[in-house]
Amino acid sequence: VTNVMSYFPLKTPRASQRDVILAIHGLFNQYDIVVLEGPVGSGKSAIAETLIKAMGPGHILTPRKSLQDQYMEDFQKEGLVTMKGKGSYPCLPSSGVFPSPDAQGHDTDYAKACTEISNGWSDFHNLDKGYGSARSVGRGFCVKNGKRSQALADKCQGIVRNAEGAVIEEAARPCPFYLAVAVAQGAHQVAHNLHSFLYQNFYGAYFTKRPLLVIDEAHDLEGVVRDFVSKTLSLDLSACKRLSRNGVDFPSNDASMSDWINYLSRPAFTPDKESDPEGYEQWIEKLEFMDAVAETFLADRVVHWEDVPEKNSRKVTFVPRTMGSAPANLFLQYGEKVLLMSGTIYDKDYFCRRLGLPANKVAFVRLASEFPLATRPVIIEKSLTTVNSFQAWKEDPAAYPSMLANIRTIMDRHPNVKGLIHAPSYQVAYDMAAQLTARIVHHTPDSFQEVLKEFYQRTDNAILISPICQQGVDFKYDRARFQIVVRVPYLNSSDPFIQQMMKKDFPWYNYQSLIAFGQMLGRVNRAPDDFGVTYLLDARFYQYLRRNDYLLPAWQKAAIRKV
Ligand code: SF4
Repeated sequence: VTNVMSYFPLKTPRASQRDVILAIHGLFNQYDIVVLEGPVGSGKSAIAETLIKAMGPGHILTPRKSLQDQYMEDFQKEGLVTMKGKGSYPCLPSSGVFPSPDAQGHDTDYAKACTEISNGWSDFHNLDKGYGSARSVGRGFCVKNGKRSQALADKCQGIVRNAEGAVIEEAARPCPFYLAVAVAQGAHQVAHNLHSFLYQNFYGAYFTKRPLLVIDEAHDLEGVVRDFVSKTLSLDLSACKRLSRNGVDFPSNDASMSDWINYLSRPAFTPDKESDPEGYEQWIEKLEFMDAVAETFLADRVVHWEDVPEKNSRKVTFVPRTMGSAPANLFLQYGEKVLLMSGTIYDKDYFCRRLGLPANKVAFVRLASEFPLATRPVIIEKSLTTVNSFQAWKEDPAAYPSMLANIRTIMDRHPNVKGLIHAPSYQVAYDMAAQLTARIVHHTPDSFQEVLKEFYQRTDNAILISPICQQGVDFKYDRARFQIVVRVPYLNSSDPFIQQMMKKDFPWYNYQSLIAFGQMLGRVNRAPDDFGVTYLLDARFYQYLRRNDYLLPAWQKAAIRKV
């Protein structure tokens, strides 16, 4: 019997970690799929690392690059390597291969990049700084009209082929991306980006089934698969109208996929192959993809369209609603055993249903938080709540100003520490920042990373207002000692897909808000000796918490103080 604990990568496992590792290892004798719900600080990544070393080779998939990098920082010494998308690797052809001036003199950079890749890293954020390359492999010199030209790539890599296309001569100068693929294929454990893993395998089939597949932040899986499958096409609006005048109607929202594809395949919409070969390729690729998934992912779908007259275009979007067993089939092919981990599963059966997993074949393990209750209070205070729905702010002119007054009261309670305010949208964040002014820091979609980095380092009493800090960010210790949740975190219903789901599938809409809520709670409590208080400002939270009482884990409910 393998002594699984001998693979534990850190000094000493906590009792709960040891128990859960042994439990999951044992459950894999009876089950192929285990779902682990573990809150922030439960050491999920060390649990995954132990199991992958004991049971691997394996893949670890995460939806966030920051988490992928975290895995790498923690476990590179254990042999972990990372694999990202083509956009993350620099295009560095050998000097003289391509005529363009910026392709010259890259040999040293190439050697440097190869060393990093061979060590398992793929951190080339500053493509134009550290590596002499302003372009990534996704847009490399060998890419013409959006497609990689085999002939140009061969030339760059020093590959010579015979008439049948077989390699007869090969200089040891692989493209950085393909070098990373080769390194990942040969490694015992690889931390992949979930999005690029789906793309790479759908179009390139680079990776095969391994004994263990781990998906971290698995609550994002449904959304990632949905984004992967969803397609938006821009049609020439005049052509739509012309066709309609000639008796070819625009398909109704519930038309069959073959009717849609027939309509979209009309020459009036297909970009010209000669003058716009890239547009043509992409169009055909989209239609072929939609055709391939018409009976699986897109069998039950939401179709919405809108006209953009100033661009003379009609944008049609296809989004899968429920995907049956398609998501499960998509990732189960990469692991004989699969471990799905998240801090916010809430309901195993519902989670399984959304991904198409047979719940009776899935084991569920729930870990409680080991952080002391006193360090993570969640306060909902009568005198500090207002109804903060968009509607209420619109209808009652006093509602928004009193919400701002409540925020000021909370800020005054914490005069000397940093804090975080979860705004419901960028628009509200900008407005709140303009009105609250003192201590406030905010960001635009483009400046987020930069502002966040700077905020982490501040030692004053600044407060960050952000609509995108629900997850993937770490406000440990003095980075933020309090946070304010302005509105029940329902998804923004200005998105037509979300609007439809809100009307037709409220349990889904509610479940998404619970995921955001649970993720938010974890932002300011990162370790047992960390302290962070959360304030809920929306009066609708009273009903929300009552309605979801049966889903919230006991350790989370115990922290909520109604005063
Ligand atoms: S193969 Fe293409 S993408 Fe890769 S380094 Fe050469 S030109 Fe750049």
